Amino acid sequence: MSDHSFLDWPFFEDHHRELAQKLDVWASRELPAIIDAKGIHDNVDATCRALVAALGTGGWLRYCVPAEFGGVLESLDVRSLCLIRETLARHSGLADFAFAMQGLGSGAISMFGNAAQKAAYLPAVAAGQKIAAFALTEPDAGSDAAAMSTQLTRKGDHYLANGQKTFISNGGIADFYTLFAKTDAGVSAIIVDADTPGLEIAERIEVIAPHPLARLRFTDCAIPADNLLDEEGRGFKVALSTLDVFRTTVGAAALGFSRRALEEALDYARGRAMFGATLSDLPIAQSLLAEMALDVDASALLIYRSAWTKDVKGARVTREAAMAKLFATDQAQSVIDKAVQLLGGLGVTKGQKVEELYREVRALRIYEGASEVQKIVIARQLLQGN
Ligand SMILES: Cc1cc2nc3c(=O)[nH]c(=O)nc-3n(C[C@H](O)[C@H](O)[C@H](O)COP(=O)(O)OP(=O)(O)OC[C@H]3O[C@@H](n4cnc5c(N)ncnc54)[C@H](O)[C@@H]3O)c2cc1C
Repeated sequence: MSDHSFLDWPFFEDHHRELAQKLDVWASRELPAIIDAKGIHDNVDATCRALVAALGTGGWLRYCVPAEFGGVLESLDVRSLCLIRETLARHSGLADFAFAMQGLGSGAISMFGNAAQKAAYLPAVAAGQKIAAFALTEPDAGSDAAAMSTQLTRKGDHYLANGQKTFISNGGIADFYTLFAKTDAGVSAIIVDADTPGLEIAERIEVIAPHPLARLRFTDCAIPADNLLDEEGRGFKVALSTLDVFRTTVGAAALGFSRRALEEALDYARGRAMFGATLSDLPIAQSLLAEMALDVDASALLIYRSAWTKDVKGARVTREAAMAKLFATDQAQSVIDKAVQLLGGLGVTKGQKVEELYREVRALRIYEGASEVQKIVIARQLLQGN
């Protein structure tokens, strides 16, 4: 059981404290069986599907959608999303991934969908019955999303999509994708069902921490015009508003990983006998543990400052979210590296939690805006006086 004392911070309300504690108990009880039974490396798709179903049955995915369409709270609450990601990440990177993608993949529908679109997708997302995905990145347009070339061409009551999207999480297992592509009026956002003819999985991509990930190809893929989110040309606003909610949660996932690394390192250092004492008695080891704890708390402060500002002030949190994501993901890498170091040879042994964390954390400094991009965002905000 983790130290929950940070929940006493003034950022939270009682329902947040209850949520984090209940989810921790649920995750301890439910997740090991799903992950052990399926064997992540052998069958990442089946494990992910089972995780989405379990998160749906447990009621946790209801935090990904507004109350009117099966959710718990009136609108997306960043503190709840962060607490859920942090807690799940402490237990399992893949469980966090399964939760996060339900939110990111359907977030644009929650925020910009019309009533029919919301009714068609959100209750099923909340129940874990439809798997969601977010398709923005292209082979030649990652950090520079404006360079995208996938086209949406209006033909009567349909749009024809042509182009490719890559590094799409849940690619291959998703039931629908929120697709960003170019129309005459500029980038637009549209919902694409995975079984739409003309949409194919061009390639499955394997990464250092197994997740369902794919490159998608669209060839004259006819998507009903009714699936357009908001208006033509508003796609970047849709994408940026969605990321404004979810970027802070990436920091929260990193925080969950670093809290777990600290717990593992503390346990090991206390029990490892050496030089007539234990590792935890050695001043240099204590210095590492102190630095890890400092990074964990500083990350948590930045994350929940950003989440609180979004939820309570209702403000754009471009600077706060970029700071939280940048700091928490960079520091998580450092915290986990120190945990690996403290465990010595065991730290790099397959099957050890810290070895898994070392692989899990790496992509977080790249996706939803690489660390370098976050620095540019922060500097721009500063120079604009924000
Ligand atoms: C595991 C994983 C899951 C992902 N899931 C999704 C998903 O679900 N949906 C989706 O749309 N995308 C997804 N992505 C894609 C991700 O968002 C992109 O990888 C990311 O935006 C970076 O784009 P890129 O890989 O093309 O790198 P590039 O844009 O080619 O950048 C390469 C590197 O250049 C540096 N860089 C970038 N900009 C600057 C700058 N201005 N100044 C200096 N240096 C810079 C950074 O270090 C960056 O990592 C995922 C990626 C990964 C690894």
